[in-house]
Amino acid sequence: MQIRGLSIEAYLEKIRAFHGHLAPGMVCGGFMVELAFQSLPEGGLYDAIAETRACLPDAIQVLTPCTIGNGWLRIEDTGRFAILFYDKHTGKGVRVALDPERLKKWPEVHVWAMKLKPKKEQDKKRLFSEIIEAGFGLYKVERIVVDRKRFPRKGRIFTCPDCGESFRGSEPGSCEACMGRMAFFPLREERSGMQALPVEEAAGLKALHDMTRIEPGVSKGAAIVKGQSLGESDIQLLKSMGRERVYVEEIGVEEKRLENSADALFHENEVALAFAEKMAGSGITYLPFPREGKIDFTAKQGGIFRVDRERLMRFNRCEGVMCATRRNLSPVSSGMVVGGTRAIPLYLEKSAFDRAMEVLAEGPLFSLAPYVFSRLGVLVTGTEVFEGRVRDGFLPILEDLAAEYGLKVTESRICPDDAKKIAKAALEMVEGGVQVLVVTGGLSVDPDDVTRKALQDAGLVDEVYGAPVLPGAMTLTGRIASTRILGVPAGALYSAPTAMDFLLPWLLADFPITRADMASLGEGGFLDAGRRKFKGNP
Ligand SMILES: [Zn+2]
Repeated sequence: MQIRGLSIEAYLEKIRAFHGHLAPGMVCGGFMVELAFQSLPEGGLYDAIAETRACLPDAIQVLTPCTIGNGWLRIEDTGRFAILFYDKHTGKGVRVALDPERLKKWPEVHVWAMKLKPKKEQDKKRLFSEIIEAGFGLYKVERIVVDRKRFPRKGRIFTCPDCGESFRGSEPGSCEACMGRMAFFPLREERSGMQALPVEEAAGLKALHDMTRIEPGVSKGAAIVKGQSLGESDIQLLKSMGRERVYVEEIGVEEKRLENSADALFHENEVALAFAEKMAGSGITYLPFPREGKIDFTAKQGGIFRVDRERLMRFNRCEGVMCATRRNLSPVSSGMVVGGTRAIPLYLEKSAFDRAMEVLAEGPLFSLAPYVFSRLGVLVTGTEVFEGRVRDGFLPILEDLAAEYGLKVTESRICPDDAKKIAKAALEMVEGGVQVLVVTGGLSVDPDDVTRKALQDAGLVDEVYGAPVLPGAMTLTGRIASTRILGVPAGALYSAPTAMDFLLPWLLADFPITRADMASLGEGGFLDAGRRKFKGNP
């Protein structure tokens, strides 16, 4: 009897060399592989499946060209002691499995296969001789066809935003390890040169970082700054702040930090500064002096704050760093703080620093689109208002809103629900130099609602009608010549905030509005509006 052209003895020798020891399952595996090939047409190209991780994959790898590494052997772990070989192209093949009925004739094999006795009590010698004597007599063979569509696709190569390593997967995102699905974690080594000293022993040494003093409800600020020599009064202050131990500058740290080696360390202040330089785009400024390890950003003037959300997300996925900003496309006034950045640990490892800087290398993370328009016009539509049956409420609301941006309404008109008259008035206001024209009313689905058509007749382009904002779903934006148009449904009379409150500043900054920008308002667009308050309606 031979196993894939080898004598039994030669096969057993191969097992010892490959598997490390002579295991009963490996011996069975040899007969099973031979039996499978005897049942298959000669000369075919076969892939293999092992239904267990124990022994059988090694028998296949020793005796056939199929290995885990070359992808021709898969483990589909059913826990059954079986192997399959099948044609690469047709999926047709055979399955060879231990047969419980046939086992019964071989008592020691039966004990071993069913784990009826602990390993120590099994008669090894007899077991091996039974397996060899039984030959092909322990197994059953059946024809099968493999459904290869059920095998997971190989996938594409993506880069994990968390660990920075590339991985093969079906979709972008974090790798399996960073999703916590692996049984191993990186070990964090204690950094030398950063041991803390008891406060009492720190006198005369220099503080390694700013230390914050928080008096609840009163103040929060740096009580001790980096590099400051700690005197006796500082020691008392630190104790009063509840500090038992303190990081001080130690010889060794500064030198280590300067080396450009992979385990170089960067102080939080240095990190914050490096980030700030890269993050701030046009219209955003910062003081180049980190306070308590953090740098804040401010708006140089009023405008719309814009943040690259995707890259901000990628930056914050880097371990050991953070950046928080106002929402993308939110209106900000001059001098307003719009965000802040810092390292999380006092000393950041170079690898973490580099990864965060790589995200920032693509350009600024945020910028400001300043308000550029000051000539605001209001066109109120509605026959009932035009005829004086109803008092107009929009103009005072818009005047209030404009005042928030330091503006006045430069021109206002009232039109009946007549498309021709609305179009004519809108065109006249555009030609008169109005830069942002707010048109109110007549934007829903009543037959009397003609405002949208009127604006189209007047030459409306870049129209986006309908906003995922409540209240304010019937809002319209667009442009007539270079004048930005904002169509505001009547609900804004009663409720605040509405879509109008979001969109007016975008228009004042001449910010181009696409359907995608409008769509981005959906999340957070349920405004939980209350009653609008304005002059004359306190
Ligand atoms: Zn990862």
